[in-house]
Amino acid sequence: MNTDKLLLLSCCAPCSVGVIEELSAQHANFTVLFYNPNIRPAEEYAKRLTENKRICLEYGVPFVELEYDPHTWDAATKGLEHEPERGKRCDVCFYLRLRRAAQYAKENGFTRFSSVLGISRYKDFDQVCRAGQKAAESENIPYDTTNWRKNGGEQRRAALTKLKKLYAQTYCGCKPRTSLK
Ligand code: SF4
Repeated sequence: MNTDKLLLLSCCAPCSVGVIEELSAQHANFTVLFYNPNIRPAEEYAKRLTENKRICLEYGVPFVELEYDPHTWDAATKGLEHEPERGKRCDVCFYLRLRRAAQYAKENGFTRFSSVLGISRYKDFDQVCRAGQKAAESENIPYDTTNWRKNGGEQRRAALTKLKKLYAQTYCGCKPRTSLK
């Protein structure tokens, strides 16, 4: 009997739709987790959440939303506001979200966890993997470092986003402090 059970941390529908399609085709036992305290403002968070839920419903994949706690994210990234994307603020942001995913995976009988946080070409895939592995060590559960961008993953992501008319944001998630709610 295959007891593998994967928890997949997702940031939004466009980044996860191709991976959901691929894992569904493989008949993988997996759940999509939405833990994104980095997303501002709250209206934007709600839009991405709704779209990610819609896609999971369409593919018949379980979807879990954890707490939306932007103040935890603010505290963790304090002092790093002026870091560029791919810099130290992103290290902290990835680790915060992946460690929470690892905790949830451990507490809920998953055998491994992974994420789609590095699928966009705007992201540093190795940076995401380093955070995932650190979270894995901290919670003692394996992090799957599959690069979903490869083997046409990025093209499929773009094609499905268009085909399914997904809401596609124009920024990663955090905003300058002056615009925070
Ligand atoms: S740019 Fe994205 S990954 Fe980096 S800190 Fe902001 S929300 Fe997090």
